[in-house]
Amino acid sequence: MATKGKDLHSGHSVWQRRRAPPVPHEPLSSNIKTDVLVLGAGITGAAIADALASAGVEVAVVDKRGLARGSTMASTALVQYEIDTPLITLTRKIGKEKAVRAWRRSRLAVEALAARLQEIGFADVARRDSLYLAGNVLAPPALEREHEARRAAGLPSRFLNRKTLRERFGIDRAAAIVGYGNLVIDPRKSALALLKVAALNGAHLFSPTKIADVRPRKNGVTAIAANGQTIRCRQLIFATGYELPHGVPHRRHQITSTWAIATVRQQRRNLWPGECCIWEASDPYLYIRTTAEGRVICGGEDAEFSDAGNRKEWLVQKTATLQRKLHRLLPRLDPTIEFAWTGAFGETTTGLPIIGKVPRMPNCWIALGYGGNGTTYAALAADIIAGEITGHPDIDASLYHFPPHK
Ligand SMILES: Cc1cc2nc3c(=O)[nH]c(=O)nc-3n(C[C@H](O)[C@H](O)[C@H](O)COP(=O)(O)OP(=O)(O)OC[C@H]3O[C@@H](n4cnc5c(N)ncnc54)[C@H](O)[C@@H]3O)c2cc1C
Repeated sequence: MATKGKDLHSGHSVWQRRRAPPVPHEPLSSNIKTDVLVLGAGITGAAIADALASAGVEVAVVDKRGLARGSTMASTALVQYEIDTPLITLTRKIGKEKAVRAWRRSRLAVEALAARLQEIGFADVARRDSLYLAGNVLAPPALEREHEARRAAGLPSRFLNRKTLRERFGIDRAAAIVGYGNLVIDPRKSALALLKVAALNGAHLFSPTKIADVRPRKNGVTAIAANGQTIRCRQLIFATGYELPHGVPHRRHQITSTWAIATVRQQRRNLWPGECCIWEASDPYLYIRTTAEGRVICGGEDAEFSDAGNRKEWLVQKTATLQRKLHRLLPRLDPTIEFAWTGAFGETTTGLPIIGKVPRMPNCWIALGYGGNGTTYAALAADIIAGEITGHPDIDASLYHFPPHK
């Protein structure tokens, strides 16, 4: 097997309630050749295929599940430049210069995704500010230092003490930081929109087709499908999410589990000002967003295990915990749940993704957009990998190369 198969999610995500918009694809039925093969048709593969196809590169995309049916369908899709690792913490881990670059680059990636979705006429995107609440990871004094570090890096930020937080948002917590200019999207629809445009620009989409083996050589790569058919390509990109390719170093990243709920539609007057994304500087943490139709999505409660059966068994209990915490934070909401789901989640020790050439696998690239910023990192991977393949190396690429930082 080319990748380590996993049960990526279970339960019913809120994005599954509607039929997926049609995007032409078919299973692989003959041997083919292409310039670039993208393995995986989630948000990462979609963003990369779109970037390559729009640059005129011959590209094929393969997925064993169908289009956008992996982790992308389970994502709660807060698209934030504020990465899981606070700037002051990342500074301690990798130094100030790199930490600031990584934070700024995430902001640019969010802007790049917003611009691209707008350019292709995809309207289902909303701009959102964010509210980062003090918790057991960053108490108010550390949160204030985080705010100062962001401002010094040129990232707009506002610090709210308990009083101003209560006055502006009706939330009773010790302090918060307001961040500006994030996005919320429907992850499945966004991935499908990007794949559709890639197809219009000449990309070939093959699914369901499982790749059983990948044979990298100095002069190109051969991917062998489970049905025996082959795809010969000049370069191959693993955009396989949490189903890691064999032969890829696993140090400093791990697969865990996470849970999410979506409530019934709320009366808009009961929602909080600006419907900003809310998240906590806590472990375990909670995060909250709204959908276009006025539901509230709430996720978190991450656990260190990765076993899918175990994850599913915890669904009822984790759902109840999320509901209770949501109600405690925002008591005006109707906390009735309509959707509850769980999925695999990946983390690196720095919170940064792994993007670049795979060691000891010639002509193979990888885009592992880990953690709560997987969508932001999908846009980043598209910039970096498509840039390098088309002869426009990215100025920040080295931040994300193997091996990941300590
Ligand atoms: C509950 C939950 C909430 C989340 N919330 C957020 C959030 O708010 N914001 C955010 O940015 N991220 C969030 N994430 C993370 C986000 O979902 C992922 O980072 C992102 O979807 C990964 O996209 P991907 O395209 O890399 O992977 P996937 O969507 O999993 O796509 C990879 C594809 O590769 C295919 N594949 C693998 N191996 C093979 C093979 N051998 N042959 C053929 N095909 C193969 C799979 O079928 C799969 O479709 C959340 C995740 C979960 C579970």
